[in-house]
Amino acid sequence: MGGSLFVFSAPSGAGKTTITRRMVAEHPQLLLSISTTTRPIRAGEVDGEHYNFVSEARFRADIAAGCFLEWAEVHGNLYGSDAGWVDSALASGRDIIFDIDVQGGHQIHAARPETVLVLIVPPSWEALESRLRGRGTDNETVIRARLAAAKAELQDSQDYDVVIVNDDLQTALDAVRAVLRREHAVNGGRAVLDTLVKTG
Ligand code: ADP
Ligand code: 5GP
Repeated sequence: MGGSLFVFSAPSGAGKTTITRRMVAEHPQLLLSISTTTRPIRAGEVDGEHYNFVSEARFRADIAAGCFLEWAEVHGNLYGSDAGWVDSALASGRDIIFDIDVQGGHQIHAARPETVLVLIVPPSWEALESRLRGRGTDNETVIRARLAAAKAELQDSQDYDVVIVNDDLQTALDAVRAVLRREHAVNGGRAVLDTLVKTG
């Protein structure tokens, strides 16, 4: 019996890193998938903690070797989720949370249809822009590109299971907790049902 899979996607700056990190800190049985990326490391990031930072040659070799459960090009860089790590985390019964883009969410959902797809949206375009600037990690060109990409990303994510507005952070966190709780109760019920059927 494996755990549950939760994909969190959002336009860059909507707050999914803030939200997923908080959920992982609160729920010991929830593991965050650390992605592999070719993006240059940002100030304050730690290799192996925020991402596994690799060269493009290494990333392409890993694609050829079938190492990724999903991978995609996002904002000109490659990002992927490690299939072997996901399998072993699920085998140990842990739940996994992915902080990945919509293309990746769709790929994971295709491979594992029980995956819950959660979209975090900002309350407005103005709020998104001011958060991207406030974060202070990206230059003006990057911010413009991310705002343009956000529109396409929202259009592609209309089939997501749950949409949560991150306006007031505490309200958004409560909504996410409710999603995790509900899914967990469902899975707990399924495990008991399986056992009853097997032992009956
Ligand atoms: P993402 O991972 O989606 O790109 P982040 O989690 O890095 O977004 O958040 C972008 C910025 O917005 C950060 O500086 C973060 O502290 C801030 N932020 C997150 N949630 C809220 C919120 N509800 N209200 C105001 N600012 C927020
Ligand atoms: P950032 O470079 O700002 O950390 O992330 C840029 C975008 O890439 C975000 O939308 C993030 O969710 C997405 N991303 C991060 N890791 C992965 C991954 O493993 N796969 C996919 N498909 N997208 C990812």
